[in-house]
This record gives sequence, C-alpha cells and structure tokens, in this order.
Amino acid sequence: MADWASLDHEYIMSTYSRLPIVIDHAKGNYLYDTNQKRYLDLFTGLAVNILGHSHPYLMNALATQAERFLHISNFFYNPPAIQLAKRLIQHTIGDGKVYFCSTGAEATEAAIKSIHKWTAKRNDGKDGIIVLRNSFHGRTLGALRLTRQSGIYQDFPTLPITIYEVEMNDTKALKEICEQNNPAAILVEPILGAGGILPLTEEFLQTAQSLCLEKDILLCLDEIQTGVGRTGSLFAYQAYDLKPDLVLFAKGIGGGLPLGGILAGSKLKDSFQPGDHGTTFSPSPLSTALGNAVLDVLIDQKQMEKGKEVADFLWSELQVLQRKFPALVEQINGRGMMIGIITTLDKSSIQNLQKAFLEKGILINITAGTVIRLLPPLTLTKEEVKIFMNTFHQLLTKME
Ligand SMILES: *Cc1c(COP(=O)(O)O)cnc(C)c1O
Repeated sequence: MADWASLDHEYIMSTYSRLPIVIDHAKGNYLYDTNQKRYLDLFTGLAVNILGHSHPYLMNALATQAERFLHISNFFYNPPAIQLAKRLIQHTIGDGKVYFCSTGAEATEAAIKSIHKWTAKRNDGKDGIIVLRNSFHGRTLGALRLTRQSGIYQDFPTLPITIYEVEMNDTKALKEICEQNNPAAILVEPILGAGGILPLTEEFLQTAQSLCLEKDILLCLDEIQTGVGRTGSLFAYQAYDLKPDLVLFAKGIGGGLPLGGILAGSKLKDSFQPGDHGTTFSPSPLSTALGNAVLDVLIDQKQMEKGKEVADFLWSELQVLQRKFPALVEQINGRGMMIGIITTLDKSSIQNLQKAFLEKGILINITAGTVIRLLPPLTLTKEEVKIFMNTFHQLLTKME
C-alpha cells in the first residue's frame, strides 16, 4: 500500500496538521480507514456532512444531475440553482435574492463587495464593518480583513476596509462604536465556531438588531457553520426573531460538494449588476442539485426535527457527564449539533483525549486550542450517542 503520509508531506503544502488516519470510504455516520477500522464521525468534515456520508437520497440526486450536465457556466439559466435560490429565500428572509459561490470565504468576499456597493451608492459617509474579536470569516485576503482570531490575520497585508472590532457580547461597546462612528454593517457569527463554539447572547443580538434598525446599518450574519439545520432551525438566527439584511452560508448546504453564498434582503438584493461580481464554477449544477436534496431531507423528510431530538438527548447526557466530572468539565456551549466542551485539561491532555477517542473508533475535533468541538450529523442516533457517552465516561474516569 502507498505510504500516503510520506507522499502527503512530500507533495502537498503543509497548511493543516493531519490525524494519523487514511480514509478509505465513508458511509452513514461512519468513516472507514484503509485497515477497515470504523470511526463514528462527530466532526462531519468540519460541519459539511450534515446528513452523514453517502446519504442514499443525496447520492441519487447527484447521479440524476450528473446525467444531465456537470457544468454549463453562467451564460445559461441553471434550473437546480434557480430552484435552490427560491427555496432558500422562501424558508428564510422571504424577500431577497441569492448570490452563489463555492466556499465560505467567497461568501464573505461577496458580502464585503455588496456592502461596499450599498455604501458607495448612498455616498453619505457610511463606512466600515463591525466585527467581533476572535471572529472567523475566512482566509482570503478580503475575508481575512474581517477575521479577528489572533494568529490567523496579523501576518498578511491588509486591504483598506474600515474594521471596527468589538468583544463578543459587549453590548455597551457595540453601542458606543455605532454612536461615535458611522458604520455600514455589523457582521457576526451567531455562535463563534472556530473561536471555540461561543454563542452570542440574545441581548447582544437584539441590541445589534435594534442599532441596525435605528441607524440604518446592515445586519449581516455569518451562518457558514451555524446554518443548514445544525443548530435546530434552518439558520440559527431564526431562533432569535432577527431580521438580517445579509446571511452568509456554505459548508453544509452542498451536501459534501463545494457550495456557498449570500442571502441578500431587500436593501442588498439588487446591489450587484452584471459585471460587478461572479465566478466561473458557481453555481455548480451538481452542488445546487445536492443543495435541493439537502433541503428535501432536512425539511420535507423532517431530518431537522429528528436531529434536534437526538441533539437534545446528547445535551442531557453531556450535562450528566459534567455533573459527574465537575473538576474536568467546566462548561458546555453551543446549540443543537454544534457543541463546544470547555475542560480544565491543557493542550497536550486534550490532544491525548482526542487520540484515545480515535483508538476507540470515535472522531472528535479540538478547536481554539483546548475546546472539544462536536459537529455531529443530524442523522446521529440515540444508540450512537450512548456509545459516545460511555466512551467519554471511561476516558474521563482514567484522567481523573
Ligand atoms: C468555515 C467558515 C468560514 C470559511 O469557509 P471556507 O469554506 O473554509 O472558506 C467562514 N465563516 C465561518 C463562520 C466558518 O465556520
């Protein structure tokens, strides 16, 4: 068998450190390595495989579209993309339009450009985007201007976009910035994902909403990680009665294929005219056909509700764990199938815990250094929750 690890290190630029596993195939909620060992996937390719792997309904939609056409370019009407755009708008902001791209960072780029178009047209001095310290919005240079996670943005040249940085949930600071300046937009993740699964408080979100209404500022939500059913509603903002002007999405929507975009409400839906923005590959007919299939399963086949029920069970079991190991488990954050467990373990113990889980056939993720991040599929079963929790109890008992 090829030594994939050595070949990887020799030929692929080293932008990520990898787990010591070579995946052979994946099915349902499991990954299988080249030794045919199976792993319960509680990471889902970083919040992408929201319906697990090789979901039969998605595979069927993929095959059907593949027989029609793989790519046609933006010179033609694209039925699967049009259908998906209509459904996304109808299930979210009601009045608006979609711009499609392939990745999350491109969704952020589109957001920056449409905000710029909006302010340029008004020409009334509105300028700049308010973001959160420790935010993550992508790694292209434009998206990187909004990303405030330390270590990710400082070493690159910056484009001239005015950025205001606020501590998450600091309502007072948010108000002050809006009063002392004339910002165009507030752009936040409802739950900071890469930052450590840190939810914004309802008070902070409602303050952002009322400042936006009062001062005609654009409320923009990065739902690239929180969206597509992960937190229990199609998008996280829908649980808070917010009226965003812009919603960024990616990750889960393509059912495993690259697909992202922005949902632009009435203020922004006509900000782009032909020539203002675009990309060759998006909207991909294959990705958008899968996007439609994802919505079929989540909404029509009620997988979002079923997933929510299992997520509630997982949360209650995690609280049992926390009560049993109060000295190790400090806090559990997040919502639905987006969970951050803050422990008292240091970086190397946390990495050992992840390794021990892997040995037991369970894949978990670590983010922000020491936060255990769970991004399970909505197809997770209660049986699988029990298996995971039993292992968790065993491993923490050993560490105590
Ligand atoms: C992953 C992520 C992005 C970037 O998406 P890519 O597809 O990796 O470019 C942006 N914002 C949030 C909240 C994310 O989680």
